[in-house]
Amino acid sequence: MKHEPELLFRYLDQTRALYGNHIFLDVQTVKNSVQNTNDLKLFNSSICQCKKCPLGRTRINFVFGAGNPQADIVFVGEAPGEKEDLEGVPFVGRAGKLLDKILAAIELSRDDIYICNVLKCRPPKNRDPLPSEVDLCEPYLKTQLSLINPKLVVALGRIAACTILKTKEPLKNLRNQIFKYEGIDLLVTYHPAALLRNPNFKIPAWEDFKLIKEKYLTQD
Ligand code: URA
Repeated sequence: MKHEPELLFRYLDQTRALYGNHIFLDVQTVKNSVQNTNDLKLFNSSICQCKKCPLGRTRINFVFGAGNPQADIVFVGEAPGEKEDLEGVPFVGRAGKLLDKILAAIELSRDDIYICNVLKCRPPKNRDPLPSEVDLCEPYLKTQLSLINPKLVVALGRIAACTILKTKEPLKNLRNQIFKYEGIDLLVTYHPAALLRNPNFKIPAWEDFKLIKEKYLTQD
C-alpha cells in the first residue's frame, strides 16, 4: 500500500465526493485496486522491452496503456501515433483530446476508464498494423483485459474493430451491435481521428456514446 499513495488518495476523493467527509473505507476495494495496478505494472515491466516484431526497433517508447486498472470500460485504438510514441502514453494527440471531450460529455474522465491499443508500438509513418504484428501483439491486449476484467471493450475505429473481430466489414456495419471479445461485451465506434477528419460522423458517434452510457454506466 505504501507504494501506491496516489491510488488511495483518488479513492478517498471519490468516496468523499459521494458521501462527504464521513467516509466509509472499503478496504477490499482499495486492496483490489492496488492489486490490479501492481499486476498491470508487473505485466508492463515484463513486456516493455519486446522485440518480437520489427516495430520494437523503430519505436521510441512502448505504449502499454493508461487509466484506471479497475475500469469497467476499456477503449482500444489501433496503434500509437507520433505523439504517443514520444510520450509513451496512448491518445495524447489531437484525437485523444477530442476523445477526452466526448468522455466528459458522458461524465467520464481518463481516471474512470482504461485506454490502450492493439499494437503497443508505433508503425512507421502511422501505417496500418500488419497481420504479423497483430498476431504477436494481440496476446498482450488479451492479458491486459484479463487483468482489468472490464464490463465493456470499445473498439475505436475500423482498424481496431476489424483486427479484434477478425472481419473486413465496414465500420458502419459493426456499430450498434454487442460482440464478445475474450468473453467481454464489445462495441465498435468511430476513431476520434475520423471525427476530426469528417464531422458528419459526430452525430452517429454521439449515438454510440449515449448507448455506452445507457447500457454500461447507469447500472451497478
Ligand atoms: N490513434 C490510436 O489508435 N491510438 C493512439 O494511441 C493514438 C492515436
